[in-house]
Amino acid sequence: MAAADPNSEVEVTNAMTGEPLGRVPRCGAADVAAAALRARAVQTAWAARPIRDRAAVLMRFHDLVLNRQDEVLDLIQLENGKARRHAFEEILDVCLTARYYANTAADYLRPKRRQGVQLALTHVTELHHPKGLVGIISPWNYPLTLGISDALPAIVAGNAVLAKPDQQTPFSALWAVSLLEEAGMPTGLVQVLTGFGAELGAPIIEASDYLMFTGSTAVGRTVAGQAGERLIDCSMELGGKNALLVLDDADVDKAVSGALRAAFSNTGQLCISVERIYVPARLWDMFTTRFADAAKSMKLSAALDYSADMGSLISEKQLKTVAGHVDDAVSKGANVLAGGRPRPDIGPYFYEPTLLSGVNESMAAFAEETFGPVVSLYRVQDEDEAIERANDSDYGLNFSVWTSDAKRGRRVAARLQAGTVNVNEAYAAAWASVDAPMGGMKASGLGRRHGEHGILKYTEPQTIATERLLPVGAPSWLEPGRYARLMTTGLRVLRRMPGVK
Ligand code: NAD
Repeated sequence: MAAADPNSEVEVTNAMTGEPLGRVPRCGAADVAAAALRARAVQTAWAARPIRDRAAVLMRFHDLVLNRQDEVLDLIQLENGKARRHAFEEILDVCLTARYYANTAADYLRPKRRQGVQLALTHVTELHHPKGLVGIISPWNYPLTLGISDALPAIVAGNAVLAKPDQQTPFSALWAVSLLEEAGMPTGLVQVLTGFGAELGAPIIEASDYLMFTGSTAVGRTVAGQAGERLIDCSMELGGKNALLVLDDADVDKAVSGALRAAFSNTGQLCISVERIYVPARLWDMFTTRFADAAKSMKLSAALDYSADMGSLISEKQLKTVAGHVDDAVSKGANVLAGGRPRPDIGPYFYEPTLLSGVNESMAAFAEETFGPVVSLYRVQDEDEAIERANDSDYGLNFSVWTSDAKRGRRVAARLQAGTVNVNEAYAAAWASVDAPMGGMKASGLGRRHGEHGILKYTEPQTIATERLLPVGAPSWLEPGRYARLMTTGLRVLRRMPGVK
């Protein structure tokens, strides 16, 4: 990968210490064009390989990731600052996704018979061709998961990929691509472009046949517009202001441990983490006291082992946003129930797990995504109020419901406006169930990853219809008026015929 200007580089920071970690090329538009040519040069032969060969690459990649996890766990921790337990969730995600699409791609992609308009007289097949070249732009919060997992269904479907990880976290994606090549993927099929989104976004969209974007809603709107101009399809996985609902029959201790995971996993820098919690008045005192105690006892550390409950934020910028939301809320009258302070004694970007109450519309933390370890607690009278307030948001990504009655939890979940709802789990049950769609409603996104949609979106469906014996329409020997009468009768019969769709 050569940069347009060989002297132009991006310095990557060790998020745990604020010190330099390494340098990567600052790619430009010419690099994107060259990378696209290289990727397309290998894509055709790759797409012609049997699906089982392509799936086998994913399975070998799965095994290599498991065997070599320590290398990338260090990388993820250093470039992102997260605790190792949260870095390990990235290993899990990549393996679950690789295994799932290795096992299911052949079925999703095989030619399928469809019902013909004239039933047995019309033979209809649906094919799925690879789009060609898929652009994947990803953020820094899950450098391995978001850097490579969306590429796995794309390549098994026969595509090449231009991957642009965030400039702050390029190393995990580079590591993953070298492992894919070791697993048998043709060299060059996935091209990694390091550098800045503002410089690389437009050329990547220009060069690609599909865009998979994960990041902020603001940038998502811009890139979706650019994809629209080119009439290429796209998937947008964007921001959230996720809510957790404690129902009045919940086991408080279980709800507290769920809320801890929901709010502070990955130092709160998780698109599906929770920043709003609705608690019934009956449980308010017990829940808030136990939750605050649990948050205060969390261990923060920069250690490259499993000892920390929570790690660092990624950068000075992120620290400023988080501290800004807390300070703004406190200055307008919110109460800090736990945390509320930066922790430079541990590392330059550490911030305590923080609980706020008394947050209202005048405060940034009320409706804006903080993307940090800050959660606001709201007292509600009943389930209906909790649902109404949870839904009162521009976003709709992932919600969580806690109850001792799973059926009631699912009923409440179905009334929530979010792409995923976890009942008695924080976020991972829905995310890690890769067989089911994952994505956001409202300003949280467009399209879905995972499951059928997560692979078929990278394909161009084609319908091939072959007609036998009779044309669709009036044959030349039949007077059009008679044809219309015959068809009218035919439609009435078909409507009642069992098995006809
Ligand atoms: P961001 O939108 O600033 O950056 C995301 C990616 O887009 C980066 O690679 C960046 O370089 C690139 N980019 C920036 N400007 C661009 C432009 N003009 N054109 C093309 N690409 C551009 O996002 P961020 O703030 O760094 O990441 C955090 C956000 O991502 C949060 O809002 C979070 O909720 C969201 N997120 C969503 C999901 C999801 O699956 N829904 C997952 C993780 C993060």
